[in-house]
Formats: sequence, structure tokens, C-alpha cells
Amino acid sequence: MLVSKQLPLLNSAFSARAQRVQARPTQPARAPLVCAAQPEQQQLQQQQSEEPGPPVMDHKRRLLKTLSLSEIRRPLGGTRKNDQSKVEALANSIQEIGLQEPIDVLQLDTDGSYWGFSGCHRFEAHQRLGLETIKCRVRKATPQTLKMHMM
Ligand code: ADP
Repeated sequence: MLVSKQLPLLNSAFSARAQRVQARPTQPARAPLVCAAQPEQQQLQQQQSEEPGPPVMDHKRRLLKTLSLSEIRRPLGGTRKNDQSKVEALANSIQEIGLQEPIDVLQLDTDGSYWGFSGCHRFEAHQRLGLETIKCRVRKATPQTLKMHMM
């Protein structure tokens, strides 16, 4: 008896809930995920062109920068002679396929000047080719670190 009296009540409760559920606004379709790496890769490729520009990081988060040859001081350039056959081979290769490995450069944290101690053959190959800029991996250095490189 009790059940037959309660059934209509239960039915109306169910239908009221069903109406509420139907009345809920439908969720808008989710926007497709955008791959964040894509624009960064494009930016990296752009920055690896021969134009000087703002710094970017390589895959190990090292600073990559295209610098003018004229703004890189080479304190050992006058004392160390490069192997000219190496320079020639590198110049040919760089002309053909571009610089595959940036040279390492120190940037003094006091005045921002750039100092190159390695990559001597690649640097000279760029000079030979008449290029004005070179791709560099830049590391900040104190005057003490710079002194150690000059010893
Ligand atoms: P450097 O004094 O410039 O370091 P090395 O002969 O000791 O000269 O080394 C040449 C370096 O240049 C190698 O590490 C090589 O991987 C790199 N490199 C970069 N770009 C090129 C290129 N296009 N052809 C050949 N080697 C290249």
C-alpha cells in the first residue's frame, strides 16, 4: 500500500531531475591543444640566421647569439697561428652547409664585452668568406674567469 502511494511521488521527483539535467547548458567544444614547441622552434631557426638579433637558448638552455665578428675580442688571435689547410676546409664546408657548431664566447658580466678563445679556425673561416656575423654560444664570465682564459 505504502509503495503504491509513494510511487507517483518518486516518479515526479525523477522527471523533475530529468528536466533539470536537460536544461543544463551544453559544454562548449574544447579548443584543440596548440603545441607550444612549434613557435619556439620557428624562433630558434629564425635566430640561427646570420642576422644579429635577440638571444635564444639551445636544447641545453645555453645562450645562443649571432654576433658581429667585429664585436668579438680575440686576445689570443695575434699569438696563435691557425692551421691554414683547416681554415680552408672549414671555409668550404661553411659555405656549402653553414656553421654546424657555434663557437664559444665569454661575455664579461661587468661591461658586456665578448671574448673569444676557441673556435679560432671557424672564426678565421668566416673572415675568409667575408661574413660579418657568426653564431656563438655565450657564457657569462667574471673578470677572474676571463684572466684564467688568458693565461
Ligand atoms: P676551431 O679552432 O674552430 O675549433 P677545429 O678544427 O678545432 O677548429 O674544429 C672545427 C669544429 O668546427 C668542429 O667541432 C666541427 O664540428 C665544427 N664545424 C662547424 N661547422 C662546420 C662545418 N660546416 N664543417 C665542418 N666542421 C664544422
